[in-house]
Amino acid sequence: MELMGIPGPSGQEAAVRQYLQSVLEPVLPKRNWLSTDQAHRKTDPPGEVGNLILKLPGTRRGTRRLFSAHMDTVPLCVGCQPERRGKYVVSADSATGLGADDRAGTAVLLATALRLLSSDTPYPPITFLWTVQEEVGLKGARHVNFQKLGKPRWGFNFDGGDAAKITIGATGGYRMAITLKGIASHAGGAPEEGVSAIAIAAMAIADLQQNGWHGAVRKGRRIGTSNVGVVRGGQATNIVAEKVELEAEARSHDATFRKRIVKEIEQAFRRAAKQVTNTRGQSGKVEFEGRLDYESYHLRVNDTPAVLARSAVSSAGLDPEIAIANGGLDANWLTAHGVPTVTLGCGQMNIHTSAEKLDLPAFHQACEIAWSLATGEDPNEA
Ligand SMILES: [Zn+2]
Repeated sequence: MELMGIPGPSGQEAAVRQYLQSVLEPVLPKRNWLSTDQAHRKTDPPGEVGNLILKLPGTRRGTRRLFSAHMDTVPLCVGCQPERRGKYVVSADSATGLGADDRAGTAVLLATALRLLSSDTPYPPITFLWTVQEEVGLKGARHVNFQKLGKPRWGFNFDGGDAAKITIGATGGYRMAITLKGIASHAGGAPEEGVSAIAIAAMAIADLQQNGWHGAVRKGRRIGTSNVGVVRGGQATNIVAEKVELEAEARSHDATFRKRIVKEIEQAFRRAAKQVTNTRGQSGKVEFEGRLDYESYHLRVNDTPAVLARSAVSSAGLDPEIAIANGGLDANWLTAHGVPTVTLGCGQMNIHTSAEKLDLPAFHQACEIAWSLATGEDPNEA
């Protein structure tokens, strides 16, 4: 409840991190088990703070495990007032989201760490990682100071809904910034001398929509998604618009198909730019800038972290449900860094909306699942 009430949108996680430090520091036998990194300096724009890392040496031999959760929330959750209603926690202010995404995961990790530190149950070396800037492109996980994690072999990321759900893969995402430069002219006096950047944008988007390259994209057996999510441009009704800026994204589990979607988007804008000309035969220009946010990944059901997660979920009395996510997760980058990571649920519902709530029984199950993952024996690996 306390964690969800702390404002902390992406890049402004200082207060959340401070809260975690203030709870952990008094109970740690050694202060240097807790450290931070400089991930926030590698992001554009830079953030307030980097990731928080708690590295426990363990009280028995075993393979180091990594637990992760992100500290930031979407901006909608700033100002939330968590309130308990029956088996749920909601935000009392109906205009804000709750921020259980991902303070619930943050709390699962904190509760697990505190329980390990105060219990006699032996446990192997464990690293806890609280990341920053997940919601703006998995930046904390991407830029984590990997040296500080102590070479974990498997990862468990707590960021999702149902506690029975084990996400073993996630789609790769690509973001684009598209700038259209037309030619301004007076819309009443000489519209034919102008090249409207807004007309170019409209034609390109209509082209994508009509040809099945916008929204849910399905071509034969290949599937993906695309979205033009931001359009900014124009100054006044009496000026032929000189400039439009757009932001778009494309996703697919299939990297080749994702590249194809990106190419179709780029071509649609270039084609549209050629079609809009003024009386002098001039046309507009397209600037296309793109970057890969995260690569897709896919663990197998029999990979060790998935096997461990399945048995932890079963021992909590639930039926494990294997899933593939259509959004990026910190697990994408942790896996890319060499720590195969599955993502588990912790009771978040209706995330990124003002109807967000936390299912408390699912949250408590997630805490039990984390506890079995933290204290369970190493599997016999072939
Ligand atoms: Zn999340």
